[in-house]
Amino acid sequence: MPKTALDAPQVISMLQEVCQAIIAAEPLLTDADRALGDGDHGLGMQRGMTAALEKLGALDPESTGIDKAFSTLGMAMMSTMGGASGALFGTLFRNGGKAIAGNSHFGTAELAELLKVGLEGVMSRGGAKPGDKTMIDALHPAAEKALEEAAAGSPFAEAINAVAAAGEAGRDASENLIATMGRAKTLGEKSLGKPDAGACSVAIILRTMAEFSAK
Ligand SMILES: [Mg+2]
Repeated sequence: MPKTALDAPQVISMLQEVCQAIIAAEPLLTDADRALGDGDHGLGMQRGMTAALEKLGALDPESTGIDKAFSTLGMAMMSTMGGASGALFGTLFRNGGKAIAGNSHFGTAELAELLKVGLEGVMSRGGAKPGDKTMIDALHPAAEKALEEAAAGSPFAEAINAVAAAGEAGRDASENLIATMGRAKTLGEKSLGKPDAGACSVAIILRTMAEFSAK
C-alpha cells in the first residue's frame, strides 16, 4: 500500500535500500564515469554506501529522528568516499537532513525541503549550476518537482514518484549537455552522448526512495 508519510524506522529502512541499490549499481556507475571521467565513481559510491549501511544499521530506530537518519548517511559518505562525490553527496544528505530536524515524519513537504536545501548545499560546495553536466542536472529538476508537488499538496507516494521521474529525465537530458564543470569538463564536445555518472547516482537514489514508498 502506498505510504502517506514515513516514520523514522521506515526512513532508516528506505535509506538502507538506497545503499543496497547503489552498491548493486556499481558496474553501471563505474562504466558511466569511465566514459567521461576517471572511472572511480562506482567504487567510491559503493564504499560510501557500504559504510552508511553499517551506520544506519547501528541506529536505534525507536529513538532516531528522521533528520539523523539522513545525516548519518551523509556523514558516512563524506568520511569514507573521498573525492568530490563524497563531499557533494555527503553534503546533499547531511544538509538536507538538518533542514528537516524536528519533523517526526518524512512526507511531501519534508521531501521538498530536504532536496531544496540539499541542492543549495551541493551547488555552493561544488560550484556547478544546472546545465554543466554534473549531478545537479538530475538533482535540480527533482528538487523543483518536489517543491511543485509540495505546493500542490500531493500525496507522498505520488509526489516522490514524480520527483524520481524528474530526476531520471534530468539524467537522460544530461547526455545532450557539453560538460563545463565536473568530471568531463576537459572533454568539451566529446562529452556529448553519455549521461553524467553523478546524475545516474541521483536518479537511482530517488527511484529507490520512490519504490520503497510505493509498497
Ligand atoms: Mg570520477
